[in-house]
Order: sequence, then structure tokens, then C-alpha cells
Amino acid sequence: MLYERDRLYDILNEIKGAIGFSCSYQAEDIALLHLLKDHDNIEIFTLETLKHFHQSETFHNEIERFFNVKIIKYYPDQSEVKELETELGDYGMRESLEKRRLCCDIRKVRPLERALKNKSAWITGLRAAQSITRANLQLVEYDEKYRLLKINPIFDWSEKELYDYIAQNDLPLHPLYAEGFKSIGCEPCTRAVAEGEDIRSGRWWWENPEHKECGLHIKG
Ligand code: SF4
Repeated sequence: MLYERDRLYDILNEIKGAIGFSCSYQAEDIALLHLLKDHDNIEIFTLETLKHFHQSETFHNEIERFFNVKIIKYYPDQSEVKELETELGDYGMRESLEKRRLCCDIRKVRPLERALKNKSAWITGLRAAQSITRANLQLVEYDEKYRLLKINPIFDWSEKELYDYIAQNDLPLHPLYAEGFKSIGCEPCTRAVAEGEDIRSGRWWWENPEHKECGLHIKG
């Protein structure tokens, strides 16, 4: 899709400061790695929650090789994780929204704050059609919490357009997609979904749909 690359590069070329792209192994992120392949001034990073599926580590290495890029890992604070594990054990985040948000805060939100520090723009693979929490997404938004431009280059892609793009360009997919996963997250909070089910329904499946965000993409 030449148009997407053109509209994305037009925006990126206007940005003076540092640009970060948060890559979390989703199909959307793989399409973006391909769209961004000719732009060499972007820090590609991932949030290493220490709760990922073991397949994600292998996939991380695979896509680094495939796209010839380095994906920087941002880790949670070790002492905070230790305290969290004492409080929640392996699956305590499922016991309440409060506990789940605490875990996401320590393992994702705080590392993201570090990743976005001193950045002028943040590229994401969000799509409006993914869930009701993302329905009003725009191509470019101002993120008040992080005080930067948030760029969502494929915000208007349908699921079909996304997978067509991946197939047409012969791009790799995280192996869990072949096992019925439609979104890739942490092992305790992600499961496969049935055909026809909402693509985000495998994330925090015990919660109401309006709560299904990890705190990374909530407007502050
Ligand atoms: S998705 Fe689950 S395991 Fe991962 S940070 Fe959030 S609550 Fe913790």
C-alpha cells in the first residue's frame, strides 16, 4: 500500500525530534515494521513485561533478523516486580481490575514512560476496528499524558486489509496466530479466540470490554 507509506512518511518527515515505535509482536506491528523499513531514524522498542509467551522471545529474534532492525527492550523495575510477585503470585492479576491494572502499570506503563521520555512522536499499530475502546482513533493525535504526537498509521485498516498486506508482502507472523490467537500479549492474560469472536476478546477475557486496555493507550 503505497498510499499508507506516503502518508506516513509525509508526517514523519515533518517531525524534528526523536521518534519511537512501540512494537509488541502483533500482526499490526509487523505490517508497520514493513511500512517503516525505509525510514532509519526511528527507535523501535518493545516492553518486556517478563510475562510473555516463550514463543515471543523466539519471534523477537526472528523479526529482528527478518527486518534487519534492533528492537530495544524496556524492562520493569526489578524491585517493583519482586514486590508485585509477592503480592499477586503467578495469576493474581485476574482477581480484580485493581490488581490487573497494578500489574500493567508496573510491567508496561512505567517502562513505556521511560521509553517515551524525550521523544517527540510515538508510532503505534492501533486500529479503530480493534475494539470499542479504540473506535475514535485518529491518524495523528496529541497525547496529553506523554506530551507528544501519537501516530497511528494503520488506524483505518480493516482486519482483512491487514492480513492481505501481510500475505502480499510475505511477512512473518507470531506463531500463536496459527493457534487461534488474534492478539498477542502476556501469557496469563491472553488466550485464543473462536472464529468470529472479537479480536480483542482473548485479552483479559474476564473483564468488561470497556476496561480492556493496559493503560498504555488511555488519554491522560
Ligand atoms: S497483561 Fe497481564 S501479565 Fe501483562 S502486565 Fe498486564 S496484568 Fe500483568
